[in-house]
Amino acid sequence: MEMASEYTIDALIQKIIDGDKQYDLSKIVSAYEKAEFYHNGQKRESGEDYISHPLAVAYILLELGMDTDTICSAILHDVVEDTDCTLDEVRKDFGSDVAMLVNGVTKLKRIPAISKEEQKAENIRKMILAMSEDIRVIIIKLCDRLHNMRTLQYCSDNKRRTISLETMNIYAPIAHRLGISSIKEELEDLSFKYLDPYAYEEIDQQMHLRTDTREKFVDSIKDKIGKRLAEDFEKMPLIEGRVKSNYGIYKKVYRDGKEIEQIYDRYAVRVIVDTVNECYNVLGIIHDMFKPIPNRFKDYISTPKPNMYQSLHTTVIGREGLPFEVQIRTWEMHQTAEYGIAAHWKYKEGIKGRGKEDNRLAWIRRIIEAQQESNDAEEIVRTIKSDLAPDEVFAFTPKGDIISLPKGATVIDFAYAIHTQVGHKMCGAKVDKKMVSYDYQIKTGEIIEILTTNVLGHGPSRSWLNICKTNEAKSKIRSWFKKERREENIYEGKNELEREFKRNYIRLSEDELPEFLAADIKRHNCETLDDFYAAIGYGGVQLTKIVPRLRDDYNKKYVKDKEEPQYTPPKPVKTESGVIVDDVGNCQVKFSQCCNPLPGDSIIGFVTRGHGVSVHKTDCINYLSSIRQTDDAARWISVRWADETPQNNFKVTIDIVANNRIGLLADISAILADIRIPMHEATARELKNGNANVMVTLSIAGVDQLNGVMNRLKKINSVISVDRTGK
Ligand code: MN
Repeated sequence: MEMASEYTIDALIQKIIDGDKQYDLSKIVSAYEKAEFYHNGQKRESGEDYISHPLAVAYILLELGMDTDTICSAILHDVVEDTDCTLDEVRKDFGSDVAMLVNGVTKLKRIPAISKEEQKAENIRKMILAMSEDIRVIIIKLCDRLHNMRTLQYCSDNKRRTISLETMNIYAPIAHRLGISSIKEELEDLSFKYLDPYAYEEIDQQMHLRTDTREKFVDSIKDKIGKRLAEDFEKMPLIEGRVKSNYGIYKKVYRDGKEIEQIYDRYAVRVIVDTVNECYNVLGIIHDMFKPIPNRFKDYISTPKPNMYQSLHTTVIGREGLPFEVQIRTWEMHQTAEYGIAAHWKYKEGIKGRGKEDNRLAWIRRIIEAQQESNDAEEIVRTIKSDLAPDEVFAFTPKGDIISLPKGATVIDFAYAIHTQVGHKMCGAKVDKKMVSYDYQIKTGEIIEILTTNVLGHGPSRSWLNICKTNEAKSKIRSWFKKERREENIYEGKNELEREFKRNYIRLSEDELPEFLAADIKRHNCETLDDFYAAIGYGGVQLTKIVPRLRDDYNKKYVKDKEEPQYTPPKPVKTESGVIVDDVGNCQVKFSQCCNPLPGDSIIGFVTRGHGVSVHKTDCINYLSSIRQTDDAARWISVRWADETPQNNFKVTIDIVANNRIGLLADISAILADIRIPMHEATARELKNGNANVMVTLSIAGVDQLNGVMNRLKKINSVISVDRTGK
């Protein structure tokens, strides 16, 4: 079926000639010729030639007052994706700006913009904004969507619903965010029509039934206001009647449970004047003529909406007892209200969109500052900027799920954000199908594929801790090292036990050990001797704490004939700090802030210049990196915990992750109070995934006590993980 379209190149040219803005007509015509050549033979679902669609999009953009390059890009917006035309060809013929805009629109097509969850929809919206390095890309995309919505009746039922849902959840809110209310309202009304056809029909009919009365009513109001304003104004302000959109009424009727009669701004009159002063003058006159409804006055001039909208709103009661809304604004405010971000191109020459963020947004500041004197311009620029250049990045999984991460996040963070096991099993990553290194920083819009392996014993590397950016990934990697490195921990633990026993003259065969240690194995919640070794290996059991007692047990049970020299313990050395510096004797000791060692931790000392010995954990990153430097290596000396250490004198910070719920903090502090552990500090925040993260700083006597505390905390309902932090 051949159908003639109302959107032809001739109509477009005529519209350009009729307007008062300068355009490069020949550039626009050659864009048309290229698009027409490449789309030749393609049809739309309506049966029209495909070229009618890009022309229609260009037409809508022309109505918004967009510049030559935007019009050309609109005409060419589908050629790279849907035809053999390449981006290089576009660049060669139309310049880098048009190529950049076409490429931007093409890239947006790969965002799967459908989501029922509001949270995800918000991410998709942010992603679309962040991916558009030039604001014109979004504006073209919105007009593309608008024309597709206008011609949606030709699509299948299923497609209609999907596209309408996407429009309602993603594109209408973006249009709103950018202040382009003319497009936002039409997008909403069109999607509403397909998403809830019965409600749409009902409202449409009700509004039609009232058309006559409404028009009469609005006309009489306009008349009255007009007569009065004519007395005060030399140049007559424009007064226009306004009907609320069907979707606007639907929201108030269905969502807010109002009767159509109760919707005050169903009837509205708009007065447009030249200056801000005149706005307030008109307001005074309106309040003098009609009775204002209390609390319905809003001054969006002194406090603009975040999308730059400015006007005075007031609702008054007419003589017939019917309430109606009056909106008062200047012509400039009117442009901004209708066209939002696009208003900039409306009467001025477009500013190059690319370049520094600040350049990109400086004109928003100018628009707002030109209209008023308050400081809100800064605030609005900041909110729009955070939309266009957020602190987050958004990347896809190969299946199209969107993962949001803080800026600077690496593929390791991405892997752990998908799932803990994906992180642990990660053995590489591809970004847009190319292999990248572990420290690759993710950019918005990239597709990230995490390669995993099921090889037994594979796990994260300690170096990842320095590469990844999110605390979530870090704490998952740390806990892996605690829990999963069992073999290594058993080996380490066994060696340590043998060493300690040798030092203390405890001589037992492998067979005798399980029985000898039975009570301790049980006390530390271990099932087997291997569990116990593993616990020693990762530091869950502090041998130095239990060996003196084991030595006594051993002497009682196994040393009967006293032939062997019995080991007599040295007199306990008392120190103020709790740390004995071997070979040095009495000296000043302080605990490092980087790893905050606790009695029971394996420790090492660093001879500082003039401040005594600073004590670190042997797994402290600073120690491990310093020991490799020849200059510093010699200054590390062995230190050990004294038999008696000061009670509750050591600070430790615990990192708790839990499913967020009411009363979580209260439960944590109740447990700490119950076991009488002083708490110095507690901070709670919500993580991106909705979990709660609580950090508590405690006074603790040593590792054994800490483990007890952590075990108690782990048992709290909804707690996922409890970790000791480096600090
Ligand atoms: Mn299109």
